[in-house]
Amino acid sequence: MAEAPARPSGGAAAPQPHGRLFNFSAGPAVLPVSVLEEAQADLLNWRGCGVSVMEMSHRGKEFTQIFNEAEADLRELLAIPENYRVLFLQAGATSQFSAVPLNLAPAGATVDHIVTGSWSKKAAEEAGKYAAVNIVAKGDNKSIPAREQWNLTPGAAYVHYCDNETIQGVEFRGAPDAGAATLVADMSSNFCSKPVDVAKYGLIYAGAQKNIGPAGVVVVIAREDLVGNARPETPAVLDYKVMEGSLYNTPPCWSIYVCGLVFKHMLAMGGLEAVQAANEAKAAVVYDAIAASSGFYASPVAPEARSMMNIPFTIPARPELEKDFVAEAAMRGMVQLKGHRSVGGMRASVYNSMPMEGVQQLATFMQEFASRPA
Ligand SMILES: *Cc1c(COP(=O)(O)O)cnc(C)c1O
Repeated sequence: MAEAPARPSGGAAAPQPHGRLFNFSAGPAVLPVSVLEEAQADLLNWRGCGVSVMEMSHRGKEFTQIFNEAEADLRELLAIPENYRVLFLQAGATSQFSAVPLNLAPAGATVDHIVTGSWSKKAAEEAGKYAAVNIVAKGDNKSIPAREQWNLTPGAAYVHYCDNETIQGVEFRGAPDAGAATLVADMSSNFCSKPVDVAKYGLIYAGAQKNIGPAGVVVVIAREDLVGNARPETPAVLDYKVMEGSLYNTPPCWSIYVCGLVFKHMLAMGGLEAVQAANEAKAAVVYDAIAASSGFYASPVAPEARSMMNIPFTIPARPELEKDFVAEAAMRGMVQLKGHRSVGGMRASVYNSMPMEGVQQLATFMQEFASRPA
């Protein structure tokens, strides 16, 4: 029997609070420890009201307060203009692949889609059930197609794109110029990772489980003129007008509550400018480790499109080592580093709540692994 590899000393994990690991999962993903502790402290009896958030009426005064604070805090974080509605809906970001055309595209309309990776491709495919989809630009999964090449359809109901491709690690730098067209963005995997000029968008949606909370809630931020035009056949739970206030039926109460704690945590950090500065510093540690490896590691993504949240990387000359890398990293307390099955290699997801020590430890291990004799 082969000997187990000796556990090398470089980059060994310092124990984390509660025996937690550094979790590089793409989603559901890491949450702030302080938020989890707060949720734990409140679990059985929320602020002395005698019941858990999981057990209280969604129309009672306690949950109304939780809900209103979550919305108000998100509005403050993103400086959401007053003429935008905020909805906390269910069925994930994927639900919006259908809800957006059903609410924003009249029957027979054309909708424009930019495809830069797996999620924007999926969104375009689903929209095709409800509208004529025009793929106005298609990337190579490594970069963003040049704006001059986008062939926008005059009169299209909207232009849809994905601000951060979670699987490929391709991220836009700010809102693309869609001219007079209504811009719709899937921001699931970089939501609240940096300030966003909401006024440039008609609609933004984001599943919670990447950056702001547990799975089970998708946030929709929609300009008010886009609410109230759903097609008659739209399911009630996807109709923005019906769901406005998000209390038509039982909302994902617990998930909204935890998102609210995360929003307060981000405000206490200093808001999204501070969050962005921390994220830039963390992503730089990983990209610098790739760059410093003299070609041992490679990023498949063009430098100007590299994501601050999801960092895929490979070992191009010796791909057979990639599974060892993932396994040894896990032995040192750094888990979920395997790349998506469609891309291969490794992927480090370094969302808001990944601590700096996590990426530093990863970089130390990357260097140690790369410098071993071949
Ligand atoms: C995860 C993800 C989705 C899908 O989210 P679900 O909540 O699983 O429906 C959609 N778009 C992007 C960019 C994502 O990262």
